[in-house]
Amino acid sequence: MDESILVVNSGSSSVKLALFNKNLEKKASALAEKLNNNDAVAHINGISEPIELPQGADHQQALQALIEIFTRTGLLKGSPFAIGHRVVHGGETFREAALIDAGTISAIKKVSGLAPLHNPVNLVGIDAMHELFPSVPQVAVFDTAYHQTLPEKAFRYALPKHCYEEWGVRRYGFHGTSHSFMVQEAARLLGKNVESTSIISAHLGNGCSITAIQDGKSVDTSMGLTPLEGLVMGTRSGDVDPGLFDYLSGRGVSASDVHAMLNNDSGLMGLSGHTNDMRTLCELAEQGDKPARLAIDVFCFRLARYIGAMTASLSHLDAVVFTGGIGENSAQVRQETIKHLGLLGLEIDPDLNQMHGKQSDHRVSHSDSRFAILTIPTNEELVIAQEASRLASN
Ligand code: ADP
Repeated sequence: MDESILVVNSGSSSVKLALFNKNLEKKASALAEKLNNNDAVAHINGISEPIELPQGADHQQALQALIEIFTRTGLLKGSPFAIGHRVVHGGETFREAALIDAGTISAIKKVSGLAPLHNPVNLVGIDAMHELFPSVPQVAVFDTAYHQTLPEKAFRYALPKHCYEEWGVRRYGFHGTSHSFMVQEAARLLGKNVESTSIISAHLGNGCSITAIQDGKSVDTSMGLTPLEGLVMGTRSGDVDPGLFDYLSGRGVSASDVHAMLNNDSGLMGLSGHTNDMRTLCELAEQGDKPARLAIDVFCFRLARYIGAMTASLSHLDAVVFTGGIGENSAQVRQETIKHLGLLGLEIDPDLNQMHGKQSDHRVSHSDSRFAILTIPTNEELVIAQEASRLASN
């Protein structure tokens, strides 16, 4: 047996694989995409040519091909010690990561109605790895689990109570793996215990969410029943008036078309009419493109409103933390967001901001800022590897 840990993140037509050694250092990563298609292809970090997969390769064939290469190149010597899987929805059943057995699989299936595009395909990855390594412990790490500490006043919608009691309609929250990593990292950087660290964590990638963390625990978050609620995202609208469904149905747009529009054609993409890529939008805005400028304005203003709203859940605040592709890399978004929050005493240092938190304390805040502002790279794969290692060792 090898001492390494494999981390698997399966999406609808792709699967990402990462290999960590026993000291939780990442040794390799790979991506297979366009699965179940004629042009399925894979890439391994450090190997420039794409790897041919069998025509129409499925998740299992892709994982098998990637593991064969990891083994042939000596990265993996025999079976791994543990396998960790990202699973999107754990409903109210999973408050933390879980060792996978028949009971876990049936519980994941039970809550799949809450994430029909994600949970079933996460289970495909679990099955595939079980076929390849039947005796290796597998662990499920849920995007929702970290938010199970939300108090009821934060997770309930003001709907008739049977919506919650019969159908589970409540705010679950997502990106929990990333937000929990943020508070661990912020505590380390601030020299505090996680249990006494309180932050507002903004994860800004293609999907965006913000979480209030009081003394290490999630107490409010912007994503809800699904990952559609809250901030403006790459192609998702975030908050809209639910009256929109009725209004548009009166204009001949079906509920499923509105749903598709809110998920795929809205957010930065919808506002700009060009792209969901923040880097491109910043370049276009610089050249005078008005819709691109507006997309950035709406994105930053909504984010600033949410930072303000999150303070209602906190009795103290140690730092506002930015992460995700936009949060880590866009000095402009950080600056334009914090500019709205002078009343809270938040202030960016323009020079530090340009360093994107690459210096040892990760600060981008001005010394006069009432609260620290940090930029911290997220590492969800590492958290999954840590959890897999911890649970497999028990
Ligand atoms: P995902 O949620 O798919 O993992 P990422 O966390 O990689 O996405 O974030 C993707 C977003 O990060 C894109 O909008 C991209 O334009 C943005 N981004 C990456 N680098 C920069 C940059 N230097 N400046 C502005 N935005 C950036």
